[in-house]
Amino acid sequence: MNLSSDKAQAATGIARTLRQHGYSAYLVGGCVRDLLLGREPADYDVSTSATPRDVIRIFPQTYAVGAQFGVVLVPVRRDTASGEPANYSIEVATFRSDGAYSDGRHPDEVQFSNDARMDVQRRDFTINGLLMDPISSEVLDFVGGRKDLAAHVLRTIGEPAQRFAEDKLRMLRAVRFAARFGYTIEDKTFSAIRELASQIHQVSRERIRDEILKMLTEGRARCAFELLDQTALLQEVLPEIKKMQGVQQPPQYHPEGDVWIHTLMLLEGLPAGCSRTLALGALLHDVGKPPTFRIAPDRIRFDQHAEVGTKMAEEICRRFRLSNDDTDQVLSLVANHMRFADVTRMKESTLKRFFRLPKFEEQLELHRLDCMSSHRDLGLYEFAREKFHALPPEQIRPVPLITGDDLIAAGYRPGPLFKELLTAVEDAQMDGSVSTKAEALELVQQKNTTRTSTD
Ligand code: ATP
Ligand code: MG
Repeated sequence: MNLSSDKAQAATGIARTLRQHGYSAYLVGGCVRDLLLGREPADYDVSTSATPRDVIRIFPQTYAVGAQFGVVLVPVRRDTASGEPANYSIEVATFRSDGAYSDGRHPDEVQFSNDARMDVQRRDFTINGLLMDPISSEVLDFVGGRKDLAAHVLRTIGEPAQRFAEDKLRMLRAVRFAARFGYTIEDKTFSAIRELASQIHQVSRERIRDEILKMLTEGRARCAFELLDQTALLQEVLPEIKKMQGVQQPPQYHPEGDVWIHTLMLLEGLPAGCSRTLALGALLHDVGKPPTFRIAPDRIRFDQHAEVGTKMAEEICRRFRLSNDDTDQVLSLVANHMRFADVTRMKESTLKRFFRLPKFEEQLELHRLDCMSSHRDLGLYEFAREKFHALPPEQIRPVPLITGDDLIAAGYRPGPLFKELLTAVEDAQMDGSVSTKAEALELVQQKNTTRTSTD
């Protein structure tokens, strides 16, 4: 077991200090699970018999984020082997048992205890209920977690229906952990989720969003969405995605199958650590297909599905309280995903304006995933990618040949026409038909004459 990382050292150090003060203290939860699996834990948690007040006394500069639940953050600031000063916190939680849950998410009250065995009973899944002695590295298993780790099974600690009824978020956590590790959800645990899925709305939308974003960006998104579907959670949290099932597509473009299969294949292509906007773009790019499905004389068509989908994606992003920046990027991915079909026919100026979209690399990557999840022809992708990388930024966004001031100096009156004229000049500049200020002004004059004569 590798406890040599800086965080591991910090956490074991804190646990040892607590022991030196006469308390019991262990590493607990996800970090023990990950250490046993040979994975690098994201964070380390310590559980102890010391009360929050004791912990604060022993470690100056702590902050009691959730003192009512017995949780104190101990900041770690020290020089590390890599030379970068460490700056993070270790969560130290007092052993406790949870009282009744009346809101479907948080315990009404908690009872501190001296007993580690009692503390693990309140935790969610057996694989998350293991303790590790910080001195001997011995693992204490009061819940059968090691057996389930070995058997690749995700199982609640205690009666599943009761544990999910207490805290509905655990249903999404079950799917996330099962997908992340490729584990099967144990039968009773699985049935309990199906039974209670419609109650997931007791969890805040932000928490639901965070779970879904983790599922999408941890590298096993297809598996997570298949499990969301099988557990009946999908229709609750993302009914628009559930509706993709059975929506047929023209086989010549989509030999893979219906819109749901296509979307799952995109999710399968999302690597661990991908951006949440790309992940949401992949999930939602065809969300407009179910409502626009129609059988035209020639083939199945989805007229305007990118536009309809953009509106639906906006509604979904708002529902999940996504930040404005992320929402804009997701909507841009959905709205523009069909434009690659035209890239070889676009005028230079149109193509350059297309390349100006913020984070154009994400547009490219979504298009690549879209192709690889259907006909697998990357011709248009390669064309766009090569062109995008070949063009220097000053050609994608050239310094304007003329500005509004030049128009005023040439005797034009400021107004809505200005933008039109300046855009026309910029287009001509990007297409290569004008390259000097004089030519630009000449073009303005031509445009203006044509305009006035047709008015
Ligand atoms: P991750 O690798 O995603 O951080 P984790 O298992 O460490 O996974 P955390 O959310 O960091 O999960 O929580 C730490 C521990 O706290 C869990 O391992 C589990 O023992 C307990 N826990 C967290 N959330 C819940 C919950 N909703 N109900 C019961 N126990 C929970
Ligand atoms: Mg954790």
